[in-house]
Amino acid sequence: MEVKEQLKSLKPYEPGKPIEQVKEQFGLTKVIKLASNENPYGCSDKVKQAIQEELESLAIYPDGYSAELRKQVAKHVGVKENQLIFGNGSDNIIQILSRSLLSEGFNTVMASPSFSQYRHNAVIENAEIREIELVDGRHNLDKMADSIDSKTKIVWLCNPNNPTGVYISEEELINFLNKVPKDVLVVSDEAYYEYVTAEDYPNSVALLDQFPNLLILRTFSKAYGLAALRVGYGIGNEELIRLIEPAREPFNTNRLGQKAAIAALNDQTFIETCKKLNREGLKQYYDFCEQFGLEYFPSQTNFILIDFQRDADELFQKLLEKGFIVRSGKALGFPTSLRITVGTEEENEALIQTLRELLS
Ligand SMILES: *Cc1c(COP(=O)(O)O)cnc(C)c1O
Repeated sequence: MEVKEQLKSLKPYEPGKPIEQVKEQFGLTKVIKLASNENPYGCSDKVKQAIQEELESLAIYPDGYSAELRKQVAKHVGVKENQLIFGNGSDNIIQILSRSLLSEGFNTVMASPSFSQYRHNAVIENAEIREIELVDGRHNLDKMADSIDSKTKIVWLCNPNNPTGVYISEEELINFLNKVPKDVLVVSDEAYYEYVTAEDYPNSVALLDQFPNLLILRTFSKAYGLAALRVGYGIGNEELIRLIEPAREPFNTNRLGQKAAIAALNDQTFIETCKKLNREGLKQYYDFCEQFGLEYFPSQTNFILIDFQRDADELFQKLLEKGFIVRSGKALGFPTSLRITVGTEEENEALIQTLRELLS
């Protein structure tokens, strides 16, 4: 069997190590996972009840149009229902966009290091990839704009950026959009939108009328705590959404995910609480970094990238043996850094205590 040539250069996605596997491997009874930017407080209690009720209907296909969820998200975001596309996680929307626009002979522009799936999908579609190095953790928007040509189809902005946690301001985004030709799609991936506190973070939805080539990605996987149920969405110009819809699988969001997302959306108190606790958690790491003279990027997300000035895989392994799963920066383009998800106060304190011991 011969698969497409371009697939041979790709490795399957390497997720954060599962807790059970680490327990077994090192004979540990307790393992703390701060690796995949999941919400340490789980999800709203309202979600559990909503899912329970839905268990009666598992034999019935879900609503492929996500009509009820669509109505609620449209209201929440402040757009028309036909300006939304739903996905099996926002990963799925990245795939749909790549499949709809990219092919051999065309190119796509992205920052590096950034979220892996932009590149991954572009390779599968055989498009040329133009990766523009971050500067101090930030997108180099001037250089990204300069690298656009007549063959460019998609520009990916990860805002805030994974794995640095750094954001693009409204002014920077508008300046950039003004330079991009109208037939080039600009994707603003806002997976950590709910955690952002910076006042000059863009209100990107308000820019859609002026920039019909902008598409925004949001997800229920991070702050809403529904990573397992796979619901993400795109917000864009209605004509663009209409054009890409045929590339979406008919039943790409499931019954439980749709119901859970509706319930989660209706508990904004939970989101506000998580956002506040996340800021306090970040402060724990900032204080630790300052004490130890470690460099880090101020984060607008629920993770922090810290430069430990030593081999990241080795430090990762030492933490693993002590029952902490974090993300080594090595595979993320920062070979001496760890990407740590902000956990509960106790989880952060336990990890910081262990790091103190390892560093001194
Ligand atoms: C986690 C993440 C996603 C994917 O989220 P899903 O909705 O779970 O597929 C997309 N983009 C970025 C930057 C992320 O960090």
